[in-house]
Amino acid sequence: MPETQSGGDGAERLDVFMARANAAYYARRDPFADFITAPEISQIFGELLGAWCAVTGRGLLKENAGGDLLLAEAGPGRGTLMADMLRVLSRVAPDLFARLSVHLIENSPRLRAVQKASLERFGVPVTWHETLASIPRGPMVLVANEFLDALPIRQFVGAETGAGWREHFVRNGAFVLSDAIVSPPELAGRMPEPGEIAEICPAASGFVQDVSGRLCDAPGAALFVDYGTATTASGDTLQALRDGQPVSPLVEPGTADLTAHVDFEVAARAAMATGVRCFGPVEQGALLIALGAVERAQALCAAAPDQANTIRTALDRLIGPERMGRLFRALALLSPARLAPDLVAPPGFPDGTPYGEKP
Ligand code: SAH
Repeated sequence: MPETQSGGDGAERLDVFMARANAAYYARRDPFADFITAPEISQIFGELLGAWCAVTGRGLLKENAGGDLLLAEAGPGRGTLMADMLRVLSRVAPDLFARLSVHLIENSPRLRAVQKASLERFGVPVTWHETLASIPRGPMVLVANEFLDALPIRQFVGAETGAGWREHFVRNGAFVLSDAIVSPPELAGRMPEPGEIAEICPAASGFVQDVSGRLCDAPGAALFVDYGTATTASGDTLQALRDGQPVSPLVEPGTADLTAHVDFEVAARAAMATGVRCFGPVEQGALLIALGAVERAQALCAAAPDQANTIRTALDRLIGPERMGRLFRALALLSPARLAPDLVAPPGFPDGTPYGEKP
C-alpha cells in the first residue's frame, strides 16, 4: 500500500476518506434526520451556554467595557445553539448583545442557509467562514458542540512485530493496511501491542491549537463540548449513524454521519503548548448542573406544566450518567491572565484548577 494520501490503486487514507464522506454528507443530507445533538434535544443546553458566554464575555471586556465582542461558533448545524445563546444574551446582557458580531465556521452551503434562517430575526451581523483564519482579530468567545468529533481521523494498527504501526486506508468499502511500517510523531513513545488500534485527529488538535493561538493574541474564551475520553485510549471509535442506527462507516460514503471520539488529553496538550489557560475536561452532566440545568428545567416545567414530562426527559438525556451526561465532556480555554486578568476561571468548571495542575 502506498504511503500517499490516496493510492493509485484506489485506496484512500482514512482521514481523506472521512473528510470526503462528511463534506458530501453535510452538503446533501439533513444531518438531524440521522442523529440528534444536545441543542436539538432541549433549549436548556443553548441557554446555559449563552449564560456561559455572557459571563466570560463580560469578564473579557471588563477593562474595555464599551468594546465589541466576537461571538464565534464552529460547526453550528442548524443554528439552534446560536439562536438559544443569542436569546439569552439579549435578555441577560443587552448591552453586550448590542455590541456582538456573530462568526460561524461552517463549510456546508446547505447548512449555512439553514443557519441564516434561524438567526435573521436577532438583527445581529452574522458572517460565515470556511476556517478560523478569516475571523477578524479581537476579543472573542467561541463555542463548538460536536464539531471536533466530525473532523477526519487517522487510524493505526500495531504491527505483528510490535515494532511500529501500519495505517488504515479504505478501498471498496473495507479497511486495508499500509505495507510499510510508519511512525507518526503523534504516536512517538507509544509502543503498540500487535493489533492495537490508535487514532489521531490532527485536524482537531490543529483547530484547538489555532483557537488557543488567537487567545494568546487577544482576550478570549473557548468552550468545546464533544463526546470522547479524558485521557488517550486505544481502540476503533469511528462510527456512522443513519436514521439513528449504526451502519458501516466505510460503505456508501456521504450517506451517513461519520464521527470519532475526541481525545481531550491531546486537545488539552495542544492548547497548553500555546500558553492559554486550559480547564477540564469536565463531564457534560457536571457542567450543565453547575450552570443551573436543574433549576432551569424546573422553571420551564412551572411555566408549561403540560410539557413537564417532555422537559424532564430531555434534561435526563442531557445530564443523565447513562445518557450524554458522562460520555460527553467539555474543555474550556481562557486567554493567559495578562490578557484577561478579570477572568479567573470559566463558569461551570467547579474546581477552577487549570488542566495539568490537579492536586
Ligand atoms: N453544533 C451543531 C452541529 C453538529 S454537526 C449541533 O450541536 O447541533 C457538525 C457541524 O460541523 C455541521 O454544521 C457541519 O457542517 C460542520 N462541519 C463539519 N466538518 C466541518 C469542517 N471541516 N469545517 C467547517 N464545518 C464543518
